[in-house]
Amino acid sequence: MGAHILVVEDEVDLADLVAFNLREGGHGVAVAYNGANALAEVSRQKPDLVLLDVMLPDISGFEVCRRLRRSAETARIPVIMLTAKAEEVDRIVGFEVGADDYVIKPFSPRELTLRVEAILRRVGPQAQAEGPQVLSIGDLRIDVPAHRVEIHGEEITLTALEFRLLLDLASRAGRVQPRDALLERVWGYAPGVETRTVDTHIKRLREKLGPGSQYLETVRGVGYRVQKPA
Ligand code: CA
Repeated sequence: MGAHILVVEDEVDLADLVAFNLREGGHGVAVAYNGANALAEVSRQKPDLVLLDVMLPDISGFEVCRRLRRSAETARIPVIMLTAKAEEVDRIVGFEVGADDYVIKPFSPRELTLRVEAILRRVGPQAQAEGPQVLSIGDLRIDVPAHRVEIHGEEITLTALEFRLLLDLASRAGRVQPRDALLERVWGYAPGVETRTVDTHIKRLREKLGPGSQYLETVRGVGYRVQKPA
């Protein structure tokens, strides 16, 4: 079963190559060559995933991603950003932009396909976690089927990835989860993938949780842990 993917890239050759490979993988692909078209196509087509280049001729990919995150209708669509600059990674997956992941140019079509497949597996309907329907840790309440997180009864808007990360940690409350285990379960990556994405996502999750971040602990040199409910 293929997904519907929007590729946003102004370099026509690269956009065509990426689109070709995704179609070979059985996905439906649409291409937008600038930021304005990307935003229009996202609201029209509601894609399952967006591949978004940072450098676009009109609005930057950063701004496109921020706008997608701001609107309730598009906030949970997974976004993988394409960037030529490794130093942009913290901004991309950080609080400021809010993408799910990034791929650094130049990349092989196979590398990109693996990332796409991993994210699609994670957000697919079959990816729903088994277990309790509602988790409560202190004032933090996670309603699993509704994808809803509340602190003191106030809803917090999380991306699909942030939700899965929090749920993964909360459903193993009291036990430290190493970064590589989180990368495998939450991101769907094979062992050995090197990325700073876990730390930057935890940082952003903490900022969003506000007072609820007290339940999310860093265990130095090991990983992260959500406190056991008292
Ligand atoms: Ca570009």
